[in-house]
Amino acid sequence: MAEAKMVHSPTLTYFSMLSLLTLCPPFVILLWYTMVHANGSILQTWDYLRQQGLRGFLEMWPKPTAVAWKIIACYGVFEAALQLWLPGRRVEGPISPAGNRPVYKANGLAAYAVTLITYLSLWWFGIFNPIIVYDHLGEIFSALIFGSFIFCILLYIKGHVAPSSTDCGSSGNMIIDFYWGMELYPRIGKNFDIKVFTNCRFGMMSWSVLALTYCIKQYEANGRVADSMLVNTALMLVYVTKFFWWEVGYWNTMDIAHDRAGFYICWGCLVWVPSIYTSPGMYLVNHPVDLGTQLALYILAAGILCIYINYDCDRQRQEFRRTNGKGLVWGKAPSKIVATYTTTSGETKSSLLLTSGWWGLSRHFHYVPEILAAFFWTVPALFNHVLPYFYVVFLTILLFDRAKRDDDRCRSKYGKYWKLYCEKVPYRIVPGVY
Ligand code: NDP
Repeated sequence: MAEAKMVHSPTLTYFSMLSLLTLCPPFVILLWYTMVHANGSILQTWDYLRQQGLRGFLEMWPKPTAVAWKIIACYGVFEAALQLWLPGRRVEGPISPAGNRPVYKANGLAAYAVTLITYLSLWWFGIFNPIIVYDHLGEIFSALIFGSFIFCILLYIKGHVAPSSTDCGSSGNMIIDFYWGMELYPRIGKNFDIKVFTNCRFGMMSWSVLALTYCIKQYEANGRVADSMLVNTALMLVYVTKFFWWEVGYWNTMDIAHDRAGFYICWGCLVWVPSIYTSPGMYLVNHPVDLGTQLALYILAAGILCIYINYDCDRQRQEFRRTNGKGLVWGKAPSKIVATYTTTSGETKSSLLLTSGWWGLSRHFHYVPEILAAFFWTVPALFNHVLPYFYVVFLTILLFDRAKRDDDRCRSKYGKYWKLYCEKVPYRIVPGVY
């Protein structure tokens, strides 16, 4: 088995794992409680906790009920079935560090369309009302917190006893293996890719399903949907639609091609995405701000522009690689670096690094529109409370850390060629600033 590379030092891994285990689950519950039961006000929740202490906090934490487990199970099984059985073209992923090339079925957009149509139809024809999901949200998040932990233990055991490919290995440290994962492409059987399920079909899909749920809840509670909620839902749906439109591209990114399936990525996708990523919409349910048509349209247009630029950055990089640097970038022949590297099996290979277009502005320019888009789907909440902005702040920290992590990885992969790229494109994220 290939030796697993450590993503961070053991100390940082222990620290982030302890934080994830001890701080993130209560944070998910506190955020849900504040949004749904404390008017979005951190002060109100703080007052409650001050008066009630630990006992009050434990009472606030919903138990995972049978309804919650049923909702999660129906949703999970439905998404797994779509992933397995919907038709899609055969796609080859990038060559892995051990020299394998994973094969996928590209049916994400179809699964997305079927999911949203089914969910809306269930509501429209009175078969299942999405407000049940909203009304059991705390219990659902609680069940996800515990269920995902068990899921990650199973992944760890699978990595030891039945790895799906040679892209698997142990760092020699049980905690690091559990946290960062052992397998790069774990599968059930030959075709069911676990990371596609956790990251795309469960995590990202839940974002769109919950965005619709919040919108429907506001409609059922007030008989109308405020323009702030419409802008928020529309932008989040455009973003997730873009994601599934480009899902094959996502299979070439760090999450899939470099990060192993462990607690860090799987817990994040199974719990953090449904609870934290959707939180601006969760806040708006009980805060129907009226922006006025003009302001609403400006925010909508700005958000769509950012999502488009983010998409175009990813598209430009992938088209450049797909055409082997032969396609035009912003109407001109691209400038590039041919970077060679050695795989873990000792083979020498080469990659092209684009140094013009978006990728000539900074080395991770695509994170700028990503962060701005999140700001634009949050700003309809206006500025009465800070909590709706938690996702934007979190995303900024995540992407700045990710840019550093990616730079470090590319430096060790490409050596002097990466140094050359850094000389040509000196800024990491924000051109002229950082
Ligand atoms: P990518 O994996 O898409 O891009 C980084 C990789 O691209 C590098 O590891 C390197 O891989 C290759 N690369 C780097 N520089 C160049 C270059 N100049 N030319 C060609 N290839 C290059 O990045 P991310 O996974 O971080 O982002 C993908 C998308 O996901 C973005 O839109 C991002 O905004 C979004 N995202 C969203 C998050 C969220 O929570 N909302 C979190 C993270 C990302 P190689 O080894 O192949 O050379």
